[in-house]
Amino acid sequence: MADYDIAIAGAGIVGMSTALWAQMRGHKVLLADPQEPGSGTSFGNACTLATYACLPVNDPSVLASLPGLMFSRDSPLSLSYGHALRNPRWMLSFLANCRPAASRRIAGHLADLLAHADAGINPLIEAAGAQDLVVARGQLSVWSTASAAKAATAGLDRRRALGVPWREVGPEEAREMEPGLRLPVRRAVHFHAARHLRDPQEFISRMHQAFADLGGTTLRAAVDAVKASATGVELRAEGQSLTADRAVIAGGAFSGRIKGAGTAQLPLGTERGYHLMFREEAQRVTRPVGWSEAGFYAVPHAKGLRLTGTVEIASLEAPANRRRLAYIARKGAEMLGELPEPDSDWLGFRPTMPDSLPVIGRSPQSDRLLYAFGHQHLGLTLGGITGRLIADLAEDRQPNIDLAPFAADRRYA
Ligand SMILES: Cc1cc2nc3c(=O)[nH]c(=O)nc-3n(C[C@H](O)[C@H](O)[C@H](O)COP(=O)(O)OP(=O)(O)OC[C@H]3O[C@@H](n4cnc5c(N)ncnc54)[C@H](O)[C@@H]3O)c2cc1C
Repeated sequence: MADYDIAIAGAGIVGMSTALWAQMRGHKVLLADPQEPGSGTSFGNACTLATYACLPVNDPSVLASLPGLMFSRDSPLSLSYGHALRNPRWMLSFLANCRPAASRRIAGHLADLLAHADAGINPLIEAAGAQDLVVARGQLSVWSTASAAKAATAGLDRRRALGVPWREVGPEEAREMEPGLRLPVRRAVHFHAARHLRDPQEFISRMHQAFADLGGTTLRAAVDAVKASATGVELRAEGQSLTADRAVIAGGAFSGRIKGAGTAQLPLGTERGYHLMFREEAQRVTRPVGWSEAGFYAVPHAKGLRLTGTVEIASLEAPANRRRLAYIARKGAEMLGELPEPDSDWLGFRPTMPDSLPVIGRSPQSDRLLYAFGHQHLGLTLGGITGRLIADLAEDRQPNIDLAPFAADRRYA
């Protein structure tokens, strides 16, 4: 008999949610991570349960404005050319997915999954006793230029057609909702069904406590290798050897590094993102506010104001790019008025497949290996539903969502 029913590599929002779902269903679960649960990318994000965010970064406008986006000092997107040249497969596939038909197809699949996001996370919020961390004030998106405000219409219409509720808010109402805004607001939209977490890491740490209370086991070690056979999976974790009926790969952007998992062949890349924290400034906004042209959010986190976002295509190893942090600080002051020096900054790694769809499903090489990674900008939102779907697969139950679009062996373009 195996040591565990299910062993999970990675205790970010995705692995932790999977562990808690599986433990709640009565399985014997091992959760392995060399770091504190929730201290990776799941720590530093924009805290938003962004059920409206079905439009991928792969958008036709990226192709049209690529040179401007990349060379401008004021661009929310930056690219390391060396990294792009070393990873042509990911880059070309990412760009191919910006074509209109591909972008529309991706948005449809993301919308289908996002429609189940709340059903995936709500039972975890309850199990973790984390209701006090959840704020239901929606998300406010603002546009500061007339041209971008006009160009947003097509995307907003597409969201509505895909079932995402939103309400047009005039500039005056936007200022009443968020008196701290100093931008010239040309257009504002309230995604009223969105919620945010006051502190994502605290949420994960409470889930971890609930998991332990239900009898779940945590191993503070990296899973180095897995070996699946007809009868189970052997895992090696920093010199220890364990067995499980099923193993789940949920290592975020590092999921390709586990030997024998079959993930190294997959086109998993990263979109790096940053944040700045201002301890005393949380009252500047009352909900996540996204400045669309600038590509970042201002968020009222429990520990202060968080300015966070932007996309940097570079490697997992490259040092933090101070110019990106300076960009956020500069734009933050444009958005909210003068700010003090930040108290801390952070770089995180969104795990991103070139078609911006996560990988959720069985490994093509063995039913005993399950994949749960690649959640790009939406891991906090989709972690809960991913956990439930992976628990279904581990039990050989038929999930209530078609997982074909998220299969590891799909065509990535
Ligand atoms: C700036 C920014 C803003 C964002 N804003 C939002 C938002 O508002 N809403 C939203 O939904 N999403 C948002 N995201 C995306 C979201 O944060 C990620 O999609 C999500 O955190 C990914 O979760 P994960 O569990 O896959 O990865 P991670 O949180 O990175 O966790 C992976 C874990 O696996 C561990 N690990 C790695 N290798 C191994 C191994 N071999 N063995 C064991 N463990 C291993 C790591 O130590 C880590 O703890 C944002 C991301 C960024 C960067």
